[in-house]
Amino acid sequence: MNNAILVVGSVALDTVKTTAGSAQDALGGSATYFSLAARLFAPVQLVAVVGEDFPARHRALLCDRGVDCSGLKTAKGKTFRWSGRYGRDANTAETLATHLNVFKDFRPKLDDAHRRAPVVFLANIDPELQSEVLAQMQSPALVACDTMNFWIDSKPGALKELLGKVDIFFCNEDEAEKLADRPNPLQAAEVIASWGPKVVVVKKGEHGALMRIGSRFYIFPPFPLPEIKDPTGAGDTFAGGFLGYLASCGVYDDADHMKRAMAYGTVMASYTVEDFSTKSVEGLDRDRVDERFHDLADRMSIPRADELLKARKPALT
Ligand code: AMP
Repeated sequence: MNNAILVVGSVALDTVKTTAGSAQDALGGSATYFSLAARLFAPVQLVAVVGEDFPARHRALLCDRGVDCSGLKTAKGKTFRWSGRYGRDANTAETLATHLNVFKDFRPKLDDAHRRAPVVFLANIDPELQSEVLAQMQSPALVACDTMNFWIDSKPGALKELLGKVDIFFCNEDEAEKLADRPNPLQAAEVIASWGPKVVVVKKGEHGALMRIGSRFYIFPPFPLPEIKDPTGAGDTFAGGFLGYLASCGVYDDADHMKRAMAYGTVMASYTVEDFSTKSVEGLDRDRVDERFHDLADRMSIPRADELLKARKPALT
C-alpha cells in the first residue's frame, strides 16, 4: 500500500525564549516538526528549501530518521528564520521576527513519486506556495493544511481560496477566531467549515483540542504535564501524529479513526513540549508513543456505573 505523506512547509532555524530557558538558531520549522512526528507512523516525503547556511547535521538528522529529503533543496541565500517568545501563557507565541529568506523565491517542482502520495500536508507556509504544491498532486485521498497569524494577516485571500480545496484544517484557537471573525472556537470552526474543510481541528494548547466533523464537535483533553519547556512545534507534531496515524491505516473518512488520530496528535504534541527545539521528538520511537496513547485513552475513559457497582473497588488510595 502506498501510504506516503507529502509535506511542504518551513524548515527553519528558530530562536526561542520561554520561561524555562532559550535556544538560538535551533532546528525548527513547520515541515521539520511534522516530518519528525509523522515518520513514526508512515513514510514521509519532505518538500522545502534551506539556505547555504543550513547545518549538514540537521539534514542528516532528518535523513537518518527515514524522512525522504530528496525534495529538500538548498538555494543561494539564508535559511528561513523565526524568533519568538512565550510568557507564562504557553499557549501563545509572541513572534519577534520572521525572515522568509530563501522561501521568498521558492517555486517547488514535485517529481513523480511525490505527486502520487495519497496524503498531503500543507504545513504552515505561504498559502500561495501551499496551493502551488497541491496543484501538482495527482489525486490525493486526503489533503490537510495549517497556517498561522502571519499568513492570516498578510495573505487572507490566498488562504481562504486554499481552504476551499482541503479536507482537514488545523489551527490554533486565536487563529481560528481571527480568521473567521468570531468570538469563540465553536463558532469560528463552523464558519471555517462553511468554506470547505470537512474536518476542522482547533488546538487550544494546554487546554486540549476540539474537532468538528459534520455538525458535531468532539472534545479532547491534553496529556497532563507538570512542566512545558518549549511549546514550539506542538501544532505541527500534533498534525504529524494525526495524519501519520490515518496514513498508517489508510482510512481517511471515518469519524472513529479521526478520534484516535486526535489522541495520537495529543500524544505527539505532549512529547514535543517537554524539551527545546526537536530534541524530544527526534528521540522518540513508536513504542513510547503507543505507551502514552494507551495511558491517555485510559485517563479519558469514563467507567459505566453498573460495572463499578458490580466490581465494588476499594476506596481511593
Ligand atoms: P507551531 O507548531 O505552530 O509551534 O510551529 C512552530 C514552527 O513554525 C517554528 O519552528 C517556526 O519556524 C515555524 N514558523 C513560524 N512562523 C512561520 C511562518 N510565518 N511561516 C512558516 N513557518 C513558520
